[in-house]
Amino acid sequence: MSMTDPLIPVPTPETQPFWDGVESGELRLPRCTDCGGAYFPPSPGCPSCTSRRTEWITASGDATLYSYVINHRPPSGWDSDGPMSVALVRLAEGPMLVSTVVDCEQTPQALILDMPLRATFRRFADTDVLCFAPEATR
Ligand SMILES: [Zn+2]
Repeated sequence: MSMTDPLIPVPTPETQPFWDGVESGELRLPRCTDCGGAYFPPSPGCPSCTSRRTEWITASGDATLYSYVINHRPPSGWDSDGPMSVALVRLAEGPMLVSTVVDCEQTPQALILDMPLRATFRRFADTDVLCFAPEATR
């Protein structure tokens, strides 16, 4: 892993619990213990109510496809030379995050908005990364 490659995720103290979850095959999210809202990306304070009382939870892994584009030139290190979706995914717990949909044709016919997705993990370069697969292919 090169620290100069911007595509390789580098954990920080704030994101380390997320990456520990990835290593365990779990999607973990920070949640505010005052207002109860889960949020992403990780930060030391709740983005809704500014409380600094937060905890980490294991998310359900359930999500829906909110929006996407199809990148026809995926980054080197990805396990496919073909098109790769760059997807905005809404988690069942509320937060949205940018990811990709795998185990699915990378076409507008197959990538249906609001389709149910499930968190999964794929090897990218030397690390596992969070991806999503159609619920039906579980
Ligand atoms: Zn809060």
